[in-house]
Amino acid sequence: MAKVGFIGLGIMGRPMLGNLLKAGHEVVAYGINAAKLDACVTDGAQRGTSNRDVAARSEVVFTMLPDGPEVEQAVLGEDGVLAGARAGTLVVDMSSINPLVSQKIGAACAEKQVEFVDAPVSGGEPKAVEGTLAIMVGGSDAAFHRAEPLLKAMGSKVTLTGPIGAGNVTKLANQIMVACNIAAMGEALSLSTRCGLDPQVVLNAVKGGLAGSTVLDAKGPMLIGRNFKPGFKVRLHEKDLRNALLTAEANHVALPLTSLVQQMLLSLLSEGKGDLDHSAIATVLEKLSNVTIERPS
Ligand code: NAD
Repeated sequence: MAKVGFIGLGIMGRPMLGNLLKAGHEVVAYGINAAKLDACVTDGAQRGTSNRDVAARSEVVFTMLPDGPEVEQAVLGEDGVLAGARAGTLVVDMSSINPLVSQKIGAACAEKQVEFVDAPVSGGEPKAVEGTLAIMVGGSDAAFHRAEPLLKAMGSKVTLTGPIGAGNVTKLANQIMVACNIAAMGEALSLSTRCGLDPQVVLNAVKGGLAGSTVLDAKGPMLIGRNFKPGFKVRLHEKDLRNALLTAEANHVALPLTSLVQQMLLSLLSEGKGDLDHSAIATVLEKLSNVTIERPS
């Protein structure tokens, strides 16, 4: 059993930490939110006093933070993970961030003989609780083999997709496909509803065919039931598509669909809807045609 540290105790971090505890690992936790840290101590974690303290007490340190700037601060900043880590420590960043930032952090770790992998996840809170996340990893073969048994306590599918940064490139690809799928659902069901059809009947009809998808199964009923409780927040998906566009620009790749859906997410943010579930992307399409996608009364 390993001595591990966990930094970032939010919607995803707390249940992921819980699964490491369940697997028998000794976990030191730290986060900037005192109530969330108390909750993890109640779950069975040891209390860390800073990112540096967590690293000094651990062989492997996990981070699960909102975006690149927070990960940079937690790992490279004053009193950060690198200030406490010894040569040979493994840092596993599970946040969804810009892959270029993963590479920058990986390089800074390498200078201190600290190993690094980026290992973002897909599946959301329910799968974080169940320990069945899909985890996409970027790093060396050696670092991956070290991280894999620990990652398997949190996920049912753990895949090495390339060198450092590749985990986040894979995650961005995932986020592009999910966002465009929700937007397509919004257009398709706006048309169906305006034509007088029951959108739930339409979804049921297409389910087994080529258009059927996990996104439709999960987000269709939320949209039709007008339930936008997150789940995955609009503000986080906007951050992911922004990171996809930055990565695309750096690599001279055109992402016209991604850029269009990112504008829809920005429109939701400007309306103060950043904390709604990302299924709300479909409501931007509804608005364009003055349609509400719901079952006929
Ligand atoms: P969250 O906002 O619930 O949790 C983030 C936590 O980090 C908060 O508790 C915050 O207090 C803490 N934090 C922020 N800055 C910190 C710092 N400098 N040092 C220590 N702690 C700090 O977010 P979440 O939903 O758990 O998401 C975390 C990451 O996982 C994001 O990158 C997100 O895109 C990704 N993700 C989320 C989901 C989901 O469904 N929520 C699914 C897949 C991936």
